[in-house]
Amino acid sequence: MGRGRADSDQAVGRPWLLYLTAGTVLVIGYWLTPVGDTGRAALYCLIGVSSVVAVLIGVVRFRPTPRLPWLLLGAGQVVYVIAGMTCCLLYDVPDTMDFRTVSDAFVLLRYPFVVTGLVLLARYRTPGRDLPGLLDTGTFAAAVTMLAWVYLIGPRVRGGPGRLGEAVPLLGHPAMDLVLFAVGVKLLLGSGRQPLALFLLMGNLVAVMTADTLYGLQRLNGTYQPGNILDVIWLAGSLALGAAALHPTMARIADQAPAGDVGLGRCRLAVLFGAALVAPVTMLVQYARGITHDIPVIAVAYTLMFLLTIARMTVLLSDQRRLAITDALTGLYTRRFLEAELPIELARVRRTGGLLALFIIDVDHFKAINDHYGHPAGDRVLAEISVRLRGTTRPGDVLARYGGEEFALLAPNVHLDELSVVAERMRTRVAANPITVNADISLFATVSVGACAFPVHVSDQVELVGMADRALYRAKALGRDRTVVWDDVASATAVPGDGPGSAADSREARETRETRETRNAHDIRTTTA
Ligand code: GH3
Ligand code: MG
Ligand code: MG
Repeated sequence: MGRGRADSDQAVGRPWLLYLTAGTVLVIGYWLTPVGDTGRAALYCLIGVSSVVAVLIGVVRFRPTPRLPWLLLGAGQVVYVIAGMTCCLLYDVPDTMDFRTVSDAFVLLRYPFVVTGLVLLARYRTPGRDLPGLLDTGTFAAAVTMLAWVYLIGPRVRGGPGRLGEAVPLLGHPAMDLVLFAVGVKLLLGSGRQPLALFLLMGNLVAVMTADTLYGLQRLNGTYQPGNILDVIWLAGSLALGAAALHPTMARIADQAPAGDVGLGRCRLAVLFGAALVAPVTMLVQYARGITHDIPVIAVAYTLMFLLTIARMTVLLSDQRRLAITDALTGLYTRRFLEAELPIELARVRRTGGLLALFIIDVDHFKAINDHYGHPAGDRVLAEISVRLRGTTRPGDVLARYGGEEFALLAPNVHLDELSVVAERMRTRVAANPITVNADISLFATVSVGACAFPVHVSDQVELVGMADRALYRAKALGRDRTVVWDDVASATAVPGDGPGSAADSREARETRETRETRNAHDIRTTTA
């Protein structure tokens, strides 16, 4: 007794649970008590409208960001309620326009709203294009639809003339439901959080898909009776949507998932492998059974899956290539990419004239940042510096992470006078504002930049890199947080034998080492937010 009261108190404190409980009691009551067509229509209306109101309450109360997906799900539910009402009210009215056509039209109208809502949720969870997810979903859906046709729908459609026209809208719904379900599965299996509201939303999709499929089959078999168990499943689907919207975690469904593995996981690979085998195996089985009507359907599905798989492989290859030339921490190009671009750019400059500049940028006293705040903080600083450096580049420039805390910018078509301007722009942009490491710490970081240009300072690729590096060393030796163009090095250290590996070079390297050894924690200006 006491326990029962505690449960009901809990339900009252949780509107979603109260809603689900009250709705379930109503639906079970309806199922156990013959209420007639009017009662049935009234219940459909009540539960359907309540789920729409629940969505609106959820949107106002929990303020999901963005609101649009939930508003679209709500709009889809409005259309769905109208479809249900039409079905209930027109079923037994003689001489009316075929109620099925009207009802089916409303059911079809629901899909654009719900698909858009779910796809938006998926996109917010995993920003950027998710072409692989879409292609995999398509392959999976094509395989299941083909199986449904061959073993469930086809045999019934062949039952008599005119049955194909009847079957297409009926079985189009389960097929569309399957697409919704696949997007839902993608939401569920993604790397982000899986709040309870998401499971309730999935409950809605599963219930509607199950009831629509059974309805289609019963209609084709001529066994559908209004008021049968399908009503319970449909209504349960509406209740699940309302409960999802009333659950406090509804606002978290769109939370961005942490960057995860976007490649072909084992599970996904197994599903795709299975899907790819479905068509040939089905064809063989049908052949063995001596049934050949469905060969064209299987062939079309097979072709579709084949094309989707080719597209998937193309995307995979381009993703692999992108990953191979992208530094994981900063999103900049890798050193390997820059080194591959260098000879191409040099050849182009040799052909067309102009200048090719190389800037090497090194973070000052970066080791001290790691030592004081830890490596994750250091990573955060590197990521922010790369964003700031990227903000100074022009289209056509190649900005790469050259080493641990070193960056390199390959800039074609830079005028000689602009070298120091570009270098200074990078230096000042990095040093301008503190970098926020976390809620408590923000710190200033500075960079030193060395630059030189082909063909005015150097005559080949090795020299270009060597001289830019030497200019950087010079900037370090002069006190850091400064820029040095090769001209400055040449005039400042124009001694015989000057060059990489020379006496001057060793002197600078020594100087740099000494400076490193004598620096202390106060070299890094820190601010505490
Ligand atoms: P200088 O001003 O002379 O350049 O001094 P520095 O401390 O920046 O140079 P040093 O070469 O002594 O230290 C570079 C440090 O960068 C050492 C290394 O642990 C750190 N580092 C390299 N790669 C990464 C990375 O990916 N993340 C983090 N957090 N630290 C890195
Ligand atoms: Mg450094
Ligand atoms: Mg360094």
